[in-house]
Amino acid sequence: MDASINIAVENLRKAVTCCVCLEYYSFPVSLGCGHGFCKICIHNVMKVKSICPVCSRSFSKRNVVSEDHLQRKIEGVVLFLNEDRLKDDGPSNTK
Ligand SMILES: [Zn+2]
Ligand SMILES: [Zn+2]
Repeated sequence: MDASINIAVENLRKAVTCCVCLEYYSFPVSLGCGHGFCKICIHNVMKVKSICPVCSRSFSKRNVVSEDHLQRKIEGVVLFLNEDRLKDDGPSNTK
């Protein structure tokens, strides 16, 4: 596969991956600092301490902005990422 496509796919994957649970976002929220997480992940973070897991800036509940409108886009990206043509190996050797 073309290396630049690999990099683009990898960047895309990072863009939709939560750095707390390392899964694709489910119902993303963003903090005042601009970093995004799953809604459930940031709730777990807030139980301990309200600081951004990425940049350690403190935030309050008011700073947690729901990005529900991104959920469908993320699902679309995840579908794209899961497509077989992006995998190097796989049962596609039909001759
Ligand atoms: Zn998460
Ligand atoms: Zn942050």
